[in-house]
Amino acid sequence: MIPRIALIAHDKKKDDMVALAREYKDFLLGCKLCATGTTGGRLIDEVGLTVERKLSGPMGGDLQIGSLLVEGEIDAVIFLRDPMTPQPHEPDINALVRSCDVHNVACATNLSTAHLVLSQLQAGAAN
Ligand code: PGA
Repeated sequence: MIPRIALIAHDKKKDDMVALAREYKDFLLGCKLCATGTTGGRLIDEVGLTVERKLSGPMGGDLQIGSLLVEGEIDAVIFLRDPMTPQPHEPDINALVRSCDVHNVACATNLSTAHLVLSQLQAGAAN
């Protein structure tokens, strides 16, 4: 089964997301990816991934990804949040993370956890 992964990064975490995606590029090329608008654009342009781009986070992109998730269309979320900067769409962010908990979907909100989730999915895909 092809892993279905959502990728989201707040502005100050987008460089980290690009670096992470480069590191796991070979694996991610074999996954079905979706992302919020700006994050997705960078992953397409700078990493060369194929990504279904949703709206930008503040415009409802997190909610669009949450909608896919509650329909059972997402296996894991890599959500590099910026804990130091207030976000105008905080309710949407909380809704997405809550939906992950409601539906027991892996949600990595920092780089360390993102590495654990991606390496585990990669290992699973190799078997
Ligand atoms: P963006 O959205 O990828 O469009 O910047 C992410 C967010 O801020 O939630």
